[in-house]
Amino acid sequence: MDRQQEFVLRTIEERDVRFVRLWFTDVVGSLKSVALAPAEVEGAFEEGLGFDGSSIEGLSRIFESDMLAQPDPSTFQILPWRSEIEPTSRMFCDIQNPDGTPSSADPRYVLKRQLKIAGDMGFTCYTHPEIEFYLLRSDEIGQNGMPVPVDYGGYFDHVPGGVAQDFRRTAVNMLEAVGISVEFSHHEGGPGQNEIDLRYADALQTADNIMTFRTVIKEVALMQGSYATFMPKPFKEHPGSGMHTHFSLFEGDSNAFFEAGREFQLSKTARHFIAGILKHAPEFTAITNQFVNSYKRLWGGGEAPSHLSWGHNNRSALVRIPLYKPHKGQSARIEYRGIDSAANPYLAFACLLGAGLKGIEEEYELMPIAEDDIWSLSTAERRASGHKPLPGSLHDAIRAMEDSELVADILGEQVFQSFLRNKQDEWDEYRHDVSPFELNRYLGIL
Ligand code: GLU
Ligand code: MG
Ligand code: MG
Repeated sequence: MDRQQEFVLRTIEERDVRFVRLWFTDVVGSLKSVALAPAEVEGAFEEGLGFDGSSIEGLSRIFESDMLAQPDPSTFQILPWRSEIEPTSRMFCDIQNPDGTPSSADPRYVLKRQLKIAGDMGFTCYTHPEIEFYLLRSDEIGQNGMPVPVDYGGYFDHVPGGVAQDFRRTAVNMLEAVGISVEFSHHEGGPGQNEIDLRYADALQTADNIMTFRTVIKEVALMQGSYATFMPKPFKEHPGSGMHTHFSLFEGDSNAFFEAGREFQLSKTARHFIAGILKHAPEFTAITNQFVNSYKRLWGGGEAPSHLSWGHNNRSALVRIPLYKPHKGQSARIEYRGIDSAANPYLAFACLLGAGLKGIEEEYELMPIAEDDIWSLSTAERRASGHKPLPGSLHDAIRAMEDSELVADILGEQVFQSFLRNKQDEWDEYRHDVSPFELNRYLGIL
């Protein structure tokens, strides 16, 4: 028993914790949870908790289904929204095979493996996400399944008497109470749309934080009688919900993306990293934008990026170099704007980091900066400047991923195959569907 494990057991006793939830994530980013009685926690630390992996998407096949969940004591947290009645806590788990080796099907392990590769190259990876989501009226969803926003505010609006302020205040307090620091929160562009930006942390902690964030936001919305959704594009006529993520690499105490005096203070390492991301983005878009609906956001305007490009302070770019004060070199970073709020953060970060590291390793050349608004260029102009499109649909994204050696390497064979299988099923179901669009458009005239 190590010291962190002892700390957890002691806290459970002192705080009279009634339930200890063990959390892990399936291949498409759904949170899985099993509640343990306090007396079982010591055993779970020693031997892991056995469960049927074949019932979890992407984890194991039916004939080799026994898996173990090994709680990570460094992630122990009391959950504030349950605690008044019966103190409840959670720990994230690593998934193991019955012999105790890490399961290659565990998304958390996929990211850990990539972080180890970064570590071997001398880098620590920090990330911070800007998470957008819609707050909807839950009564309407219950009645006819259509999204109705809780207000009609826009970007940075202060909506007098609106529910969103109260919501954000409670949500931010709740997030801080589970150890997640928030930098900004505000109303976003769409009616009922909000954004909360988390403070940077190492990439594994950020991914864990995002999983916790989604749960906290949904719980707070329920408590306040509304419904929060991370669906990438719930409204045709309003912007989608992105999860722009900022990345930086540190070598020891210094930011490897910063070099004073160079263009935009961007080091060679940063330029290669961006080049890696841009070159491989079409191959991993199925991961960062994993649903049929994700492509309605990417191709539906509302400041979502749709072409390969990078820019400085240019919101049409896929990779943006945010403004920062030159004396604050430590905050040099790049922002990937493609990813949406419904991505599996472990797999998405692993792909983005892996593609960036590949760019560094192979010293990829960075394409010229996009000075223009990419959306206002004609197709021919975009082609001439090398701004190739991102995949146009889940189908295109699956095809691009299938051929990618890099993504297969990053995810490992098992996650790569099970993810593709899951997404192909989704696409097949979608393409067989006869939608309201088709009935409205054709039935009356054909
Ligand atoms: N909602 C936009 C998107 O889907 C982003 C708006 C912004 O720049 O924050 O990416
Ligand atoms: Mg935003
Ligand atoms: Mg942003």
